[in-house]
Amino acid sequence: MRLVVVSNRLPLTLRGSAEGWVGEPSSGGLVTALGPVIQRTGGLWFGWPGEGPERADLERQTTLDRWERESGFVAVDLPRALATRFYQGYPNQTLWPLFHQFPSLLEYSPRSWEAYVEANNRFRDAIVDRLEPGDLVWVHDYHLMLLPRLLREAVPDVAIGFFLHIPFPASEVFRILPHREELLLGVLGSDYAAFQTHRHLSHFRSSILRILGLSSSMDRLFLEGRAVQLEARPIGIAPESFVGLLEGDQAVGAALRKLRRRFEGRRILLSVDRLDYTKGIPERLRAYGRLLARAPHLRGQAVLVQIAVPSRERIPRYRELKAQVDRLVGEINGQYGTPEWTPVVYIRRSVSRADLVALYAASDLGWVTPLRDGMNLVAKEYVACQKDAAGVLVLSEFAGAAAEMGEAVIVNPYDEERTAAAVERALALPPEHRRERMAALHRRVARNNAFAWAERFTDSLRRAARSRLHAGSSEPARLPLAEATAAFHACRNGVLLLAYDGTLVPLAPRPAEASPPPELVSLLLHLGAEGRHRVAIVSGRSRVDFERWFGDVEGLWLAAEHGAVLRPPTSHEWSAIRPSPPEDWKEHVLPVLEHYVDRTPGSFIEAKEYSLVWHYRMSDPEFSEWLSNELVASLEELLAETELRAIRAHKSVEVKFAWANKGEIVRHLEAAGPAPDFRLAVGDDQTDEDLFAVMPPEAWTIRVGGGPSQARFQLGSPGDVRRMLEAMASTS
Ligand code: UDP
Repeated sequence: MRLVVVSNRLPLTLRGSAEGWVGEPSSGGLVTALGPVIQRTGGLWFGWPGEGPERADLERQTTLDRWERESGFVAVDLPRALATRFYQGYPNQTLWPLFHQFPSLLEYSPRSWEAYVEANNRFRDAIVDRLEPGDLVWVHDYHLMLLPRLLREAVPDVAIGFFLHIPFPASEVFRILPHREELLLGVLGSDYAAFQTHRHLSHFRSSILRILGLSSSMDRLFLEGRAVQLEARPIGIAPESFVGLLEGDQAVGAALRKLRRRFEGRRILLSVDRLDYTKGIPERLRAYGRLLARAPHLRGQAVLVQIAVPSRERIPRYRELKAQVDRLVGEINGQYGTPEWTPVVYIRRSVSRADLVALYAASDLGWVTPLRDGMNLVAKEYVACQKDAAGVLVLSEFAGAAAEMGEAVIVNPYDEERTAAAVERALALPPEHRRERMAALHRRVARNNAFAWAERFTDSLRRAARSRLHAGSSEPARLPLAEATAAFHACRNGVLLLAYDGTLVPLAPRPAEASPPPELVSLLLHLGAEGRHRVAIVSGRSRVDFERWFGDVEGLWLAAEHGAVLRPPTSHEWSAIRPSPPEDWKEHVLPVLEHYVDRTPGSFIEAKEYSLVWHYRMSDPEFSEWLSNELVASLEELLAETELRAIRAHKSVEVKFAWANKGEIVRHLEAAGPAPDFRLAVGDDQTDEDLFAVMPPEAWTIRVGGGPSQARFQLGSPGDVRRMLEAMASTS
């Protein structure tokens, strides 16, 4: 299978030079890991080449054509004005600050959004023209969040994965975003979406729930009849491209010797960042100032080497940052510097890979304290270059890397005093101790490398796409009534599982009003009359309701509370399928639901033995839908470590035990008689999907009402269900 990578930038940057157009390669972990896969699978890499065409230029085009032919790098040629508006607009002035939780720096204009949409569309056009059946498309990062959906619409069958390199913010922050719905739906066009950490993933899920009203499990959600798989899949680096240089490259060896000579007897503290406000550079410089103030023995001894690579210099906030950092460096060097010692060695440009590797290896402490970062590769690169060494990593708890690097000294970079204290302590750790921690970190960085990451991502994507293709179209077909009836008439031992509200009877405004008409009861009894067939009503109702309506009836199986309790046809005794759990959970959940009742006129709580339900079918539809998203989200947090789940149904939210589900009841029913040769399951809401899921493929599974379902067939209404049952009863 060909791998098709899509990222904002190509791994080659196009430059006009005296010798004509040339491509300057970039050297990140992404290229190192994915380049070989592209080569091996004959795949493609789509991205902007870094410079727009000013006018038609044959030679430039020839260069780009050659890239495509020789390396599979396809330039998505955005016109110059669009490229500028796109890159400096919505992604970097709207998404970047917001996703890094700096909402006050958010800038938005409708024009920048238009450019974002336009650029994503151009990517789509370039890709669609070149796709082949079986391609795996892997879309990268926040510049291209609309692309998965655009591709899905253009080529419904293609396998699409999405990876977000930057953090996904808390839903309270995300909801600030203009066009938030489009972005979420854009990403959900993929088969598989992955994030740097579990926290980012769970923020994404709460945004989906709060904004789109879609519930998801930790690893999956359904929309438009498709499943989207979700995962936390932290990116790694290619450690060999650092360790290899360290062990074998002469330039690195020479640079390292020079550094050691120059800083002999001193302790090198190293920071390497893009000059970006998310990296916490001013906070770090101030913390360093505090360190020198509180630990006089470090004056003349410690040196902070700060490499700051200029970035996004056309955006005013970045220019302000540069001025601020210049000033802070000047202040510290002015206050503490001596003729022999400069406290901060400030390098405001990028350095060569050889110099970088030498610095990583020579440093006593890696000071990596972004205010917010998706991962932070510098932390991993530092560790890679500290093989068998005794450096110590001081790492911000707000870097994605912190989730995997527990042996680092973890700090809150906003707390400058404590950061200074932590750095002081880290420098004072005994060498064996530092060596031990570093060895553990090094092993993990070596193992979870960029190659393993890419392989796992593509495996998951392949699996997700395959299961979608096998699931087929999930809008069920209309039930072929005659065929179903004939199959029933031909069988000896049928099992008929029927949901109640919305399936056998129409939904009523108040649950108590939905009593079964006498004709329905006799119809059901008639179907089960000879004792050959097992007819069951499988409902979320309480057994109290069932007793009221079917108390005297014999001949039907009754499963109440989604299958938590069961009554066989020949007895009036109910039995629980699990031992009764303690009831005290209701004390915690009830006040939450009551709070929602207070706020939502017309809504009410139904208390059952094994569950609590908040019903809002008589309330203002928009307001109550919105509140129900809030409710499910807060319940999910409250119930995370328990057996309880918050489930959304028709105009209600139900809190129930995960094990009390309709699928469980099927096992009990099948065991209660000879192996069935006809199975029918009819249901109308989400809880009935559990029923469909456990049925064998040949079973007659029927969803009442439209919408995607795992059922094979659909019927329009409870009236249609009644007509089907009458047809089945007519000659049986
Ligand atoms: N880097 C670089 N040139 C330099 C300094 C750093 O190419 O002079 C690289 C560094 O090796 C790392 C990347 O820039 O791979 C920074 O990645 P990180 O995840 O730390 O931050 P980002 O810039 O992606 O926000």
